[in-house]
Amino acid sequence: MAKPILISGIQPTGKIHLGNYLGALNNFVKLQNSSKYQCYFFIADLHSLTEDFKPKEKLKQILNLAADYLAIGLDPAKSVIFIQSSVPAHTELAIILNNFTPLGELKRMTQFKDKSETAPYNINAGLFNYPVLMAADILLYDAEYVPVGDDQLQHLELTRTLARKFNSKFGKTFVEPKPLLTEISRLMSLDDPSKKMSKSRPAGCLFLDDPPKIIKEKIMKAITDSEKEIVYNPQKKPGISNLMLIYKNFSGLELKEIESRFANKGYAFFKKELAELLIKNLQPFQKRKEQIAKNTTSLIEILKKGNKKAESVAFKKITEVKKKIGLLNI
Ligand code: ATP
Ligand code: MN
Repeated sequence: MAKPILISGIQPTGKIHLGNYLGALNNFVKLQNSSKYQCYFFIADLHSLTEDFKPKEKLKQILNLAADYLAIGLDPAKSVIFIQSSVPAHTELAIILNNFTPLGELKRMTQFKDKSETAPYNINAGLFNYPVLMAADILLYDAEYVPVGDDQLQHLELTRTLARKFNSKFGKTFVEPKPLLTEISRLMSLDDPSKKMSKSRPAGCLFLDDPPKIIKEKIMKAITDSEKEIVYNPQKKPGISNLMLIYKNFSGLELKEIESRFANKGYAFFKKELAELLIKNLQPFQKRKEQIAKNTTSLIEILKKGNKKAESVAFKKITEVKKKIGLLNI
């Protein structure tokens, strides 16, 4: 039997941060290596145009994300790795799906509201329609699973709604995808534990590329709560609890074990240990990335091959869609 299909993407908007890693990217690698799925991972460059950008930097950002993908462990021999904008069916299907998307649903989207607040000078229609393009990204490939952070659940629900709606109007065409979440599906910002860590708010991010000195500075400066006990309580102590989740992930210790290891030790001691743990764990990635990023030609080759594979799958689906809605009669 064919393996179920899985797809996900990341925007080439800036450097990958710990939230992207713990909520998505690290899971991509595990899922890929489980050999249980046919995996597609793309660079969501069209989504990234919804925020301010410089054309001269776009290619660099795309190649940088490709290098991140490979350095983390995504493998073009096991997964299709491609660029969203290189497969025109994504935009075609998004335009078609727009017509089945109630405006009210888009108006409710938290990401749209949050980003409109973060960048009030650039609230554009692309940002508003982002969830429709995301639905197209997923539905084109008959994906059953989508590994994402919890901020994308609302968008994924819309994807399911659109799939159902389209299927009932025009006959079974799309698969309704399910999310795959990690234990850390919403890592909070280092400078404000009430907000999610986001590339669009770099001040609160710890980037996977950060050198040891910066990692130390950022962790030592991370907002913690009043009192000084290292106790996991996301409601009452969101700051320290967020850091404890990071510690748990990299050390393999349970939260209770972390609490007893740091009983009576205070925040500063814990933070110093956490910074060291992160530095040690990120170093192998950083070294691999340095090597991979040097070879632009090989990165481009990999993406071109991935684009071709994705294109052949997506083209079939968009052709089926056009036939079903009566556009391909001649
Ligand atoms: P932006 O602020 O530009 O939207 P981002 O940091 O949210 O950037 P994306 O490229 O939009 O990054 O998201 C890539 C993946 O990482 C998505 O699956 C998203 O759900 C996940 N993700 C993003 N931030 C977090 C976070 N703080 N915790 C867990 N997962 C996250
Ligand atoms: Mn995002």
